[in-house]
Amino acid sequence: MKKILITLLFLFLYSVGSIAKPLDLTKEEKGFIKDNPVVSIGMMPDFTPFSYYIEGEPVGFEHDLLNLISQKTGLKFEKHIDKWTTIYNSFKNKEIDMISSISYKKYREPFTIFTSPYYNIPIMIFVKDNFGEYNGLKSLTGKKVGVLKDVFYIKELEDLGSMNLIFYDSYDELTKDLVFGKIDALMQNLPNINHLIKKNLYNNIKLASELVLPNTNREDLRFGIQPEKSLLSSILQKSLTSISKREIEELSDKWIGSIKEYPGGHIDLNDAEKAYINTHTIQYCINPSGLPFEGLNEDGEHVGMSSDYYRLFEQMLSAKFELVKTKNWNQSVEFIQQKKCDMLALGMETPERKKYLNFTSHYLDVPLVVATRVDVPFINQILDLEGEKIGIIKGDAFVKILRGKYPSLKIVEVDDIYDGLDQVKNGQLFAYIDTLASIGYEFQSKYFGELKIAGKISENLRLSIAVRKDDVTLLGILQKVVNNITNERHRKIFTKWIPIKYEQDVNYKIVWQIVLAIVIFLALMIYWNRKITKANTLLKQAQKDIEEKNKELNRLALTDNLTTLFNRRKLEELIQAEIDKGYHVDNSFCLSILDIDHFKEVNDKYGHQRGDSVLVEIASVLKDSLRITDYVGRYGGEEFIIIFPESSIEDVKLIIEGVRLKIAQYDFEGIEHKTASFGLTAFKAGDTIEAVVKRADNALYEAKESGRNRVVVN
Ligand code: GH3
Ligand code: MG
Ligand code: MG
Repeated sequence: MKKILITLLFLFLYSVGSIAKPLDLTKEEKGFIKDNPVVSIGMMPDFTPFSYYIEGEPVGFEHDLLNLISQKTGLKFEKHIDKWTTIYNSFKNKEIDMISSISYKKYREPFTIFTSPYYNIPIMIFVKDNFGEYNGLKSLTGKKVGVLKDVFYIKELEDLGSMNLIFYDSYDELTKDLVFGKIDALMQNLPNINHLIKKNLYNNIKLASELVLPNTNREDLRFGIQPEKSLLSSILQKSLTSISKREIEELSDKWIGSIKEYPGGHIDLNDAEKAYINTHTIQYCINPSGLPFEGLNEDGEHVGMSSDYYRLFEQMLSAKFELVKTKNWNQSVEFIQQKKCDMLALGMETPERKKYLNFTSHYLDVPLVVATRVDVPFINQILDLEGEKIGIIKGDAFVKILRGKYPSLKIVEVDDIYDGLDQVKNGQLFAYIDTLASIGYEFQSKYFGELKIAGKISENLRLSIAVRKDDVTLLGILQKVVNNITNERHRKIFTKWIPIKYEQDVNYKIVWQIVLAIVIFLALMIYWNRKITKANTLLKQAQKDIEEKNKELNRLALTDNLTTLFNRRKLEELIQAEIDKGYHVDNSFCLSILDIDHFKEVNDKYGHQRGDSVLVEIASVLKDSLRITDYVGRYGGEEFIIIFPESSIEDVKLIIEGVRLKIAQYDFEGIEHKTASFGLTAFKAGDTIEAVVKRADNALYEAKESGRNRVVVN
């Protein structure tokens, strides 16, 4: 489930990024394309991987990009491929329409319209595999760092003064020297170095970090267009804008993507090894609860990174591997000792284990991180944990290693990751150490907001294939496999199972943000799921709620906000209902309108607010003095209507006299007494609402005219 959700999340993010915008060309632009279907462009022959040659064919990122633009616009490109200085000069001399790979420079503006960049080239720091922990530029202090002579960020590096800079004429030489260990690190743009790694299959150097300097920007690659050809430039800009993020990513993946894809070739096995493969089904054990590295799913099938590695082994060797199921990791270790299985795909080499197992060289290097409660400050190194209780899983190879190396640490063995993280949460442990992957995996569903990744320790978990000591042929075969797994394959498996991308120079903020995003997403999904299972009860409850809300809404629609008496609309409904009853002459309904006398004075003397509260007080006097069967509502301003169903005018007149008196005697706090005038009428056959109200209103007018504070019948 979790996996599905993570996949969904990534698909979602992917699809959001991949929406292409339509290409919306103006009439003039379309006209330009019709009149000038062929555009001349200057491109470089040796600018790998953007524009260069493979077997006489011009290829690269920029060529593919131009193809995309051709598809979108119908434009054709006539390519002039030559050295930068040559094409740059012919562009300046207006011999070609446009040029590729040009960076924005102010001085180029008079003769160039720039599109937005289609690629920003990052400058990267590469180090040897065995460099150790890389923690930003300070890790290069005193180290031999190779750079290209005259490269544009040299000055800033020299000003730092901390490293021993070695200058090179070509990045080929530079990279070779790193591969052979003559220098400790190199700085160069990513595509160049990747290209060499791909070409020469260098596999002992790695990416440490991007070089970020305050005054150095990435090199931006743009198209430059002749200033006279503004239509061409707007067409190109629109085309670039309309290219989706996914299309650009596909291009980057194809041309720049870090390291060469495993070619799917075969591995050279000797005769004995071939015979072994042909006659053996290789039995393996795993840690059944070690996801995302390895584990069993609900159906008891092997999942996790090692399942992909076994599939890869099978493919590379054309061999058959078979899982021997165990209850837990300890049983797997027992099984291999008892020869019930032949190998473990993910094992850490320790002196203890070497007594009964052989190990290939390690092929996975997994950083270990420290999980703490959120209020703990950043942890820089393991010695920051001195004196504190630190949890590590029981029997983990690291317990011994860390105890040996740092005797001052208080290491507490816990049963499993849940035990460890729970104890941190409860304060029994200060920290818990495990791989970033496992902790990240658990953070997806639990401990959100309570625990965090507080830092990384310099020791990494180095995983090798462990093989039964007596089976040296298998060890030899698997060592060949390990030698031939490309970084690209590792990366694919790693990123498939570990959504948190780990960089050498870890940006904890980003890691944390990603974890957080996933957690929020999962929380929403889980919340949603629960909701569905509870749907029936919730639905019923919701219906009830809605009914109640509707009632409330109805009430609000029919009552006057200030006085909570019926409003004019409801009064009219009620009058109509009375009319519809079809009364006989001797048994009809009466209606009275009352208007407060000199009410304006209240507002004038005491303010509108006091006026409001007088209205409320009068409303309550009215309510209190009428029968339950009578209806009273506010007809407007300070006018009220009272409906007396099934009543004789004589009875009603008495009632109203009572109301009039009550109002006249009512003590409005802080202001003088107020009176009201009443017009009263009885329903007559054939009356409409308007007719009956009008008659009452006329009576009211008379009441006012004849001195106010009285009831007039009409
Ligand atoms: P009379 O009816 O005796 O002729 O004098 P009157 O002062 O009441 O005059 P009239 O009916 O013309 O004015 C009504 C005033 O009532 C106008 C307005 O200021 C006030 N009024 C109307 N509705 C409201 C209300 O909702 N709140 C307040 N505070 N005043 C209101
Ligand atoms: Mg009035
Ligand atoms: Mg009035």
